[in-house]
Amino acid sequence: MNEMRAGVLSGVGRLEIIEVTRPQISSPQEVLLRVKTIGICGSDLHYFRTGRIGDQVVDFPFIIGHEAVAVVEEVGSNEGDLRPGDWVVIDPALSCGRCDQCRAGRSHTCRQLRFLGCPGQRAGCLQDYLVLPRNNCFKINEEESTLGILVEPIAIAIYAHHLAEGVRNKKVIVLGGGPLGLVVAYISRQKGCQWLGVTDKVDARLEGAKKVGADWIGNPLDQNIIKEVESINPEQVDIIFECCGQQEALDQAEILLKPGGKLVIIGIPEADRIWFNPHLLRRKEIEIINVRRQNNCIPGAIQFLQSHASSLRFLITHRYSLNEIQEAFEVASNYKDGVIKAVIDL
Ligand SMILES: [Zn+2]
Ligand SMILES: [Zn+2]
Repeated sequence: MNEMRAGVLSGVGRLEIIEVTRPQISSPQEVLLRVKTIGICGSDLHYFRTGRIGDQVVDFPFIIGHEAVAVVEEVGSNEGDLRPGDWVVIDPALSCGRCDQCRAGRSHTCRQLRFLGCPGQRAGCLQDYLVLPRNNCFKINEEESTLGILVEPIAIAIYAHHLAEGVRNKKVIVLGGGPLGLVVAYISRQKGCQWLGVTDKVDARLEGAKKVGADWIGNPLDQNIIKEVESINPEQVDIIFECCGQQEALDQAEILLKPGGKLVIIGIPEADRIWFNPHLLRRKEIEIINVRRQNNCIPGAIQFLQSHASSLRFLITHRYSLNEIQEAFEVASNYKDGVIKAVIDL
């Protein structure tokens, strides 16, 4: 009764299901959630493949996962609007509310941030039950609940667009057509960009790029991205969203941006150093914008999902049960079988 299942990373490239003690509410501000679905995110795949992101190193075994849809099982107090049976999307970032960053409205870079499934911070949500502060739970309609795990990538995409300060009438390229890149591309189209290009090495993802309205798609494995984009846009492009964490994408970006262009970096590189050509950056006065997840964009992302559900549904390509986590991560990590977003139903 007090046991539950949890999916742990037990070594590089290895996942296991173990029994752990079920968590309990310890304050009126907390809620107990029954986790229903988790999404496999690019950052989870970094931990799966290498056991780390930079100096955030996994201490095995470790419960991973941070994108979750859940049902409220129990509330710490009846105040507030959450009730048992409500469907929620979680915000995996637990901030302190007191530090300089939190006070400045930057809770996403909180000095004491504890992020679910982040080594050294907090265990992840790939488990049957989860206790979270109620402020980290956002109600979602039951009908959209199966799509709810798209809320986190949508929130990050909305935040990246906010930092980019507008794509209307601009020429935009998204380098990397994973779930996040495709949502960034979709929002670019919705916001009235003038021209939209998307690149990826996986053709199934480029098909997805067509669905979100790309004017041009390119696969760097068999196309010369720079030549093709420059022949369509001799004056180069205004904004590039880098969504794949690859050095070659950054190299393309600094060439393809026009003077005064913006490079918005969302991808997570596997390397600990990335390189820029300082002469190109300087001569063209390229603005580099780093995106750290998202800041307060979850309510907006839920609304966005509700109005665009039918267009974004195709992003979830694979569903697995908890018993199939090893296969789920292998498929997602190796970009097999046309995978865009893989999810695990608990
Ligand atoms: Zn994520
Ligand atoms: Zn803080």
